[in-house]
Amino acid sequence: MSIFKKIKSTVGLLQQLDLDQIGKLSEKVDISKMVSLVSSMKGEDLQKLMKYMEGGKKKHEFPEIDGDFYDLHQWLTPEERAIQLKVREFMQEHIKPIANEYWLKDEFPHHIIPEMAKLNICGLTYQGYGCPGMSSLLEGFLAMEMARVDCSTSTFFGVQSGLAMGSIYYCGSEEQKQQWLPRMQKMELIGAFGLTEPEVGSGAAGGLTCTCKRVGDTWVLNGQKKWIGNATFADLVVIWARDLDDGNVKGFIVQKGTKGFQADKIKGKMALRIVQNALITLTNCEVHESNRLQNASSFKDTAKVLRMTRAGVAWQAVGCARGAYESALHYTNERKQFGRTISSFQMVQDLLVEMLSNLTAMQTMVCRLSQLQDVGKLTDEQASLAKVFCTLRTRDIVSHARELFGGNGILIEYDIARFVADSEAIYSYEGTKEINTLIVGRAITGQSAFV
Ligand SMILES: Cc1cc2nc3c(=O)[nH]c(=O)nc-3n(C[C@H](O)[C@H](O)[C@H](O)COP(=O)(O)OP(=O)(O)OC[C@H]3O[C@@H](n4cnc5c(N)ncnc54)[C@H](O)[C@@H]3O)c2cc1C
Repeated sequence: MSIFKKIKSTVGLLQQLDLDQIGKLSEKVDISKMVSLVSSMKGEDLQKLMKYMEGGKKKHEFPEIDGDFYDLHQWLTPEERAIQLKVREFMQEHIKPIANEYWLKDEFPHHIIPEMAKLNICGLTYQGYGCPGMSSLLEGFLAMEMARVDCSTSTFFGVQSGLAMGSIYYCGSEEQKQQWLPRMQKMELIGAFGLTEPEVGSGAAGGLTCTCKRVGDTWVLNGQKKWIGNATFADLVVIWARDLDDGNVKGFIVQKGTKGFQADKIKGKMALRIVQNALITLTNCEVHESNRLQNASSFKDTAKVLRMTRAGVAWQAVGCARGAYESALHYTNERKQFGRTISSFQMVQDLLVEMLSNLTAMQTMVCRLSQLQDVGKLTDEQASLAKVFCTLRTRDIVSHARELFGGNGILIEYDIARFVADSEAIYSYEGTKEINTLIVGRAITGQSAFV
């Protein structure tokens, strides 16, 4: 190379240098020493140095995965937060490792009941009868924590603590509450709630065909109930039936083993497979007057229980969505394609952020719902709106999550397939989208569109 060419290339190199940066660097290291060291290195050593520099680059650290983006748990008291974390630990330790296995087997893990009882969260909001008397907000958070890992567990618990205990708490006499609630609270007795019938689902408010007739101090029950959760093994089932004499709906505590009561497991479900649902057949089933819920005189009383549990189902949907979102975020941070984690791709982030937006809106909505419940101001239509919105959005969220898992999204071991399937049952039970929409529609327009 001629001297002129050398000067030209050196000037070119110097023009590319950022002298400001070099100035800042020279305050920290002796640049002339560094340059002379590097320039005296052999090619082989230089390559090694380059390798060390590459290896020394800090590994990307992913932020903690937390679906509570707005820190809504801060609305809980420290005592409540501790209970939420205790339930989270229980779900991780006792349910997560077995959920897929029992879901596939279509069986209920009875051994978890005593462990769950130790949490002392059954009948959480009720006052007295051994119940903790805590807030509906906490109850909602706990339903979410359960569903976040396994929707079946939260359904089992919701039937026991909400539907079955709630029927007795809201519609039973003092004596009946004393008799049943303390043992149900300790989960020594498991309950079920029988309202839906094979031919009467959405129309249960005015159309129950299951009948009861009083003969002396005995009531005779006839008819069928479908979909009744926990009923294959429950110690007691609350049965709602129409009185042949006055036409009103009445509630009965039917104990396991009562003559004329038969509960057959519903097989072949593709959702909530751990929950044991039954088709109940009542054939001249005799129940003593002392087991008739003394404060249930019409469907309006049944509706009191449903208002409370509908809010719980909205929370359950939030849990299902949160579990799916968090699993998807975790998976996309781990999974690599084209040499990069898939969470670094724009279209993947678009789906994740859409999921989080809906999840955050849902969480905010159910928190407010529970706050209204805690001050005794929750209306049917407010509970219905949350049930519709949350279960609809949950369906979107689980489907996006499943998409992000690619082919693995249909394998049970990745959990997400279970969330997708279970969200379908949550979408339909405790009032379908259409029925809850009609309830809200009637409230906002003042006109009933029910047929
Ligand atoms: C897994 C699971 C667990 C359950 N657990 C229990 C339980 O423990 N206890 C219990 O009592 N029940 C339980 N149920 C029953 C549940 O509450 C009912 O399935 C639900 O209320 C819908 O009733 P249905 O299935 O008979 O549907 P249908 O009432 O037959 O409805 C079918 C479709 O018609 C639509 N539809 C009906 N009427 C109208 C209308 N007027 N306008 C517009 N659309 C309408 C519905 O929205 C729905 O889309 C459970 C259900 C499931 C799936």
